[in-house]
Amino acid sequence: MRDFTLIAGPCTVESREQTLVTAYSVAAGGAAMLRGGAYKPRTSPHSFQGLGRAGLRLLAEARDATGLPIVTELTDVREIDAVLEVADVVQIGARNMQNYALLTEIGRSGRPALLKRGPASTIDDLLHAAEYILAEGNDAVTLCERGIRTFEHATRFTLDLSAVPVLKERTRLPVIVDPSHAAGRRELVRPLSLAAVAAGADGLIVEVHPNPAEAVCDGPQALTTAEFAGFASEVHALARAMRPVATLAAA
Ligand code: PEP
Ligand code: MN
Repeated sequence: MRDFTLIAGPCTVESREQTLVTAYSVAAGGAAMLRGGAYKPRTSPHSFQGLGRAGLRLLAEARDATGLPIVTELTDVREIDAVLEVADVVQIGARNMQNYALLTEIGRSGRPALLKRGPASTIDDLLHAAEYILAEGNDAVTLCERGIRTFEHATRFTLDLSAVPVLKERTRLPVIVDPSHAAGRRELVRPLSLAAVAAGADGLIVEVHPNPAEAVCDGPQALTTAEFAGFASEVHALARAMRPVATLAAA
């Protein structure tokens, strides 16, 4: 990962237009990678499950068009070959953090992995899950704090920002934060992002949509493509200010 990695894109790939419009705007705004799910692990089996392989093809087209590497989720080990054709980074979602067969296969694939913390998992659980990937000889693992379940209902989950410095104390793996799923509301994405950067996160993964009101999934927490560039420049300015003196001297 670079010094500070901003990953942005839709929750899910919905259409060619939505994917390409979002990809171009996050590329122009300064994102380093494009996120987007083709396979969606939904709480209800009746909710949209993703476009599957058609979604993967749209992500490949977006990468060709913008040059942005793709972060996309693998939910089922049976789809691993299809996902590996497109994913520069394979996301293991919060619900699959302890799907050990999936973790082992990603480890064997050697592909960089983004491992999200389960909403009911401890920091220890997360580190042990990461070990399943590392144990296969794949050390390209990035950890992601995305909010945990607490008694608080004012936000979708509770962003555990203390996980950032604690994980950094306990591992050399990069640690990023997903404020979108934690907050569940776009208004909270900026303050939580800045707080995550201040806490020492190596990057952020945020949801962006051209028209969140019409989003198939997670619209209320998506930044608009129109506001993304302003958001990204604030985040990058703080990330630069947070760089350790040694890094600055070497730059
Ligand atoms: C996502 O990134 O779209 C997602 C489903 O996140 P999580 O696994 O953290 O819920
Ligand atoms: Mn989402």
